[in-house]
Amino acid sequence: MKKQYYVNGKWVSSNKYKELHSPHTKEVIAQIPQATQQEVDIAIDIADEARKQMTALTAYDRAAILEHIAQLFIDHRQKAAEIISLEASKPIKYALGEIDRTIETYKFAAEEAKRLTGEMIPMDAAQNGANRFGYTIEQPIGVVGAITPFNFPQNLVAHKVGPAIAAGNTIVLKPASQTPLSALFLAELIDQTALPKGAFNVVTGSGKTIGDALIKSDKVKMITFTGSPAVGKGIRDRAGLKKVALELGSNSGLIIDKNVDLAQIVPKCVMGAFSNQGQVCISLQRTYVMDEVYDEFIEQFSTLTNKLVIGNPEDESTDISAMIHPDEQERALSWVQEAVEQGSKVISGGMIENGIFLPTILTNVGADSKVSCQEVFAPIVLVNRISSIDEGIDAINNSNFGLQAGIFTNDISTAFKASKELQVGGVMINDIPTYRVDQMPYGGVKDSGTGKEGIKYAIQEMTETKLVVWNQQ
Ligand code: NAP
Repeated sequence: MKKQYYVNGKWVSSNKYKELHSPHTKEVIAQIPQATQQEVDIAIDIADEARKQMTALTAYDRAAILEHIAQLFIDHRQKAAEIISLEASKPIKYALGEIDRTIETYKFAAEEAKRLTGEMIPMDAAQNGANRFGYTIEQPIGVVGAITPFNFPQNLVAHKVGPAIAAGNTIVLKPASQTPLSALFLAELIDQTALPKGAFNVVTGSGKTIGDALIKSDKVKMITFTGSPAVGKGIRDRAGLKKVALELGSNSGLIIDKNVDLAQIVPKCVMGAFSNQGQVCISLQRTYVMDEVYDEFIEQFSTLTNKLVIGNPEDESTDISAMIHPDEQERALSWVQEAVEQGSKVISGGMIENGIFLPTILTNVGADSKVSCQEVFAPIVLVNRISSIDEGIDAINNSNFGLQAGIFTNDISTAFKASKELQVGGVMINDIPTYRVDQMPYGGVKDSGTGKEGIKYAIQEMTETKLVVWNQQ
């Protein structure tokens, strides 16, 4: 089916189309317009012109629009999830979970729209501040260029569109080429709300073409990007003085202390390592387990992993389906082979069966193996033995990335130590690094990016603080 992109409240055809294939069946599921640079420039002009209508809205209006978007997702929950499952091969139970989170994200955005406040400045605290009265106001930054990845095609879009609307900005959204249908469905929903036409636009097509147009345009005041470190760094290099928020990848680590209840922990680890085929930025990739519980952990972890249901993403029982592209599965396989050549042992999986990369557990993995030091973005997890917590912390910190990390421990001082010493954006005590709710501050250090998401924090990135000083004369 030939799709159109969405600009100024209208559906637009392009001269060039590209087939979109299901990652699972490989069948063609849609024809997607490939916007040219000129077409993107038109969308940017429209978004720029819509700023006036956007700034005329009150906080009450913006919150009501965001509430309406949340309600439309409640009304169309199943359809929105089926679209994700179709284009990304996300098992339907996880796709439904993503829509539930999307609803929450827009609700949080509606609430935050009402809390956009500045602060009083005690001007007379300075020698030269007598008789001055100062305060700040948070103003919308303007046109936001939002570039999103394939792995959470609705909720990660919500993390950009929700705060942008809450702050009174206008948006040009470029979804990942593999998952444009979710973004276009969002446009269908937003079209039914009172959001001024032109304030939200979706352009589909090549990342390079659309990305370049967004980065080059002086009218785009901020690029908010979620995706791979290589692309993120390229954007930053070219963005000049434009504000840039980068939510990039990771190779998240977890420490498991002795004296913990493995029966409670292991199911969480299986979920953290393999949900969405490991294609999650905070997927559990590196596990460091204390000697005392190591063998028992491996036993329980592999037993539960081998029970995962592998197959069609549309089946409600399916836990694992195909990765986003066959080339990605081949890459993951070659990384496992490299680890094995370097002395690692495959405990589970390690192969592609019926077009699906099986959930894979590796042990005895060297820090230089790709499956350890790079972002694996596949259902692969390593489990290494450690003999001290320090060894685990050092292993996790021995990484170019730093998004989130976790530790399971019953020792308070160990928990404090880990929270202090782990070099990441978020430490989860007694949880997997994969834990996230949508209002918490979220973002990494090192190559995992700059800037925070989590609605309130994204709004801070998407607003300019203006100071007003009154001289009482
Ligand atoms: P990707 O290949 O970097 O693509 C992300 C987006 O960037 C897509 O829309 C892509 O468009 C676009 N793009 C590609 N080349 C571009 C260019 N030269 N200029 C501007 N934009 C360009 O990432 P992905 O494979 O979709 O997603 C996986 C990555 O996202 C992983 O590294 C993962 O860790 C990261 N991620 C991070 C977070 C977080 O919050 N930290 C969350 C989720 C995912 P095309 O699809 O058209 O190429």
